[in-house]
Amino acid sequence: MKAKKIVTAEILSNREIAKGIMELKLEAPEVASSAKPGQFVNVYTGDNALLLPRPISICDAEGSVLTLVYAVVGRGTQWFSECCTGQLLRVSTPLGNGYDLSVVKAGDTALLIGGGIGVCPLIKLAKVLTAKGVAVRAAMGFRDEPFLVEEMKAIGAEVAVATDSGRVGYRGTALAAAMDAGMDCEHWFSCGPKVMLKFVAEEAKRRGRDAQISMEERMGCGYGACVGCVVDIRIEGQEEPVRKKVCKDGPVFRGSEVIFHE
Ligand SMILES: Cc1cc2nc3c(=O)[nH]c(=O)nc-3n(C[C@H](O)[C@H](O)[C@H](O)COP(=O)(O)OP(=O)(O)OC[C@H]3O[C@@H](n4cnc5c(N)ncnc54)[C@H](O)[C@@H]3O)c2cc1C
Repeated sequence: MKAKKIVTAEILSNREIAKGIMELKLEAPEVASSAKPGQFVNVYTGDNALLLPRPISICDAEGSVLTLVYAVVGRGTQWFSECCTGQLLRVSTPLGNGYDLSVVKAGDTALLIGGGIGVCPLIKLAKVLTAKGVAVRAAMGFRDEPFLVEEMKAIGAEVAVATDSGRVGYRGTALAAAMDAGMDCEHWFSCGPKVMLKFVAEEAKRRGRDAQISMEERMGCGYGACVGCVVDIRIEGQEEPVRKKVCKDGPVFRGSEVIFHE
């Protein structure tokens, strides 16, 4: 198991970028310098009643600055949303495997499909891929209000936006927007709700691809000590699935190996 270290990071800014969506910038050199796309950090609240840290994907990491984007959904994220510039937060060093970029080379094309808060890790991913000379296409889906779209465009990605409401961009899912716009690529990467990941994995397979999907399952400890985040994984030549932990073995898995139960 990768050693987990907890560092103290100073809040540089913490602001709302869309309704209920916050962007948190932290001065965290040790975390930012070792962050890989698709990894996450555990963020601790200062509330003693909330023992478990909250896992949040690394949205971006530049120099010494770590950027996290989170939706305010419960007590932990509400606590984060009330934090101010200059305040100190306890954050783990990067956790999880991240996306496997060893399979991607200069001149390749990559399709990034994000749904809701799942668009966050795709920013760092798009940056690293673009720097590698990979042409990036991103399909970003939201319920109603998009975020991080300008950041994705600034990286140089071709972007399709989809909303369930149809208020902005394509009315429907990010996957449908991408397929309608002919955005198929050699490599597929995705992050978002489980049901979306299932459809992404299936569509990629139909097209002869194997999507890398980030499963943001609900977690307990975040480093493999509990079994709060298991997924069933298909092993070739083996009848019984193997149970793997999202926090330790993931959060990124091959679409072809995940067994979706719903
Ligand atoms: C690897 C990983 C990466 C993540 N990255 C991000 C990120 O970049 N940005 C972000 O906003 N969130 C992310 N999450 C989800 C985030 O961890 C939860 O939203 C957060 O822990 C909720 O804490 P809370 O105390 O505010 O809410 P709680 O009070 O713990 O929960 C509030 C509600 O949200 C539900 N919930 C909590 N966690 C999840 C989850 N993982 N999936 C679905 N429903 C959940 C609960 O069931 C409950 O209904 C990630 C989760 C994982 C496992």
